[in-house]
Amino acid sequence: TKFTDLGLSKPLIDALAAKNYDVPTPIQAQAIPIVLSGRDLLGIAQTGTGKTAAFMLPSLDRLVAASRNRPAPGRARMLVLAPTRELAAQIADSARTYAKGQHLSVGVIFGGVPVPRSIREVSRGLDVLVATPGRLLDLVDQRVLDLSALEILVLDEADQMLDLGFIHALKRIVQLIPKQRQTLFFSATMPKSIRQLADAYLTNPAEVAV
Ligand code: AMP
Repeated sequence: TKFTDLGLSKPLIDALAAKNYDVPTPIQAQAIPIVLSGRDLLGIAQTGTGKTAAFMLPSLDRLVAASRNRPAPGRARMLVLAPTRELAAQIADSARTYAKGQHLSVGVIFGGVPVPRSIREVSRGLDVLVATPGRLLDLVDQRVLDLSALEILVLDEADQMLDLGFIHALKRIVQLIPKQRQTLFFSATMPKSIRQLADAYLTNPAEVAV
């Protein structure tokens, strides 16, 4: 398989070529067509498999396809929840790389930086917001962030999220997001607790394991 066979747009193919990514990884080859079709996805994949591009590339194309939905101030169209600051920062970096020149705004918020900086990040409105759960809820509670217009929700490293004690935060966050959305759920492991969470948050998902 080549990236050009997966249905991605020309700007993304060009961005991949600029990074010298010639061949999709297995999770990318399987997940990209599913996400482009609008279906929910349960991905069982470890870090290092290329899962970030597997969810980010097709999601960006879907955001562009529905780009009449401009993000209003204090709102976001896509939310990627990650368990750690490091992972959130990495995901935002790759989103920025792929979104370059496409008029898509990308922001990232996490704990450990001054809250006013996070508020500035979300206040203009974002196409893609990458966040850790605690800081996200902080901003929701301060009413500077509103998740009611979200189109795509990504839960990355869900097993890590539970291990770090984010289950209550996660449940609160998902309740604030419209039921009519596309949900992409990734976990390296699939114990019963994660499977139940996935069942609760996904609608008729396609399942991909690598
Ligand atoms: P991830 O699993 O998303 O953390 O990605 C692991 C690493 O693989 C990152 O450094 C990516 O930049 C890189 N990567 C992702 N997709 C590809 C690809 N198709 N070809 C080569 N490298 C890739």
